[in-house]
Amino acid sequence: MREVVVAANWKMHTTPADAGDLARTIAARTREPGVTRVICPPYVCLEAVGVALADADPDVAVGAQNVHHELAGAYTGEVSAPMLVGLATWVIVGHSERRRDAGETDELIGRKLGRALDAGLRPILCVGEQLEEREAGRAADVVDGHLRGALEGRDPAATHAGGLVVAYEPVWAIGTGRNATGADAAAMADAIRTSLDALGWADVAGAIPVLYGGSVTSTNVDTFFAEPSIDGALVGGASLKPDEMAGIVARAGMTARARGLAG
Ligand code: PEP
Repeated sequence: MREVVVAANWKMHTTPADAGDLARTIAARTREPGVTRVICPPYVCLEAVGVALADADPDVAVGAQNVHHELAGAYTGEVSAPMLVGLATWVIVGHSERRRDAGETDELIGRKLGRALDAGLRPILCVGEQLEEREAGRAADVVDGHLRGALEGRDPAATHAGGLVVAYEPVWAIGTGRNATGADAAAMADAIRTSLDALGWADVAGAIPVLYGGSVTSTNVDTFFAEPSIDGALVGGASLKPDEMAGIVARAGMTARARGLAG
């Protein structure tokens, strides 16, 4: 049975002074057996969040929101995978805000993913189409390109063993309050697994968790968890609100119990 994951992307919110308290509150409100919880704060808050969670609930993992594609060098302001070791155990790669703002390409994202895996960090690979691409009926093709660009040539078994998670995040749904329907998200999760099959990943495609991300809230989360092909959520705005996270993870807990993951 595939793992159930709820990952919080805090984006450029919180400071080292307040991030630990927020993480502690969320951890206390989201204890659900069988659900993998991950909090991804800004780089500068990783330590504060890690310290708080080690004390409050070591079952909540810490993730970074990005990683550089080189190990070290003259890259001012950047953070490499080895630098994250000890501060994080997960990392988001390919978020659409980085594709948009930092011009990240699939090839670059693939290199980041490789650095993450080499450092023992579990990657959450974000893929998703723009609104015009969806309206042109190209959503599955675009996502196929994202997967191919980042994963082609990589060993499927080793990547799966390294803990790869794919997040389907339609760009038009991120931070807009306009979420996909559960049925559309499920169709894209199926398309992602079809793409993985076509890449030669058939042995592991069915085992890789696929999350949905894009304006997930405690109110709409049920529509996603009602779909068996969706294994969790990558949550942005709502992940800064403990009440919202409590509701989202509680719903994830129902799926974890139904899958026999709750112990
Ligand atoms: C995200 O940042 O990955 C995200 C899905 O954001 P939001 O939930 O705010 O749409």
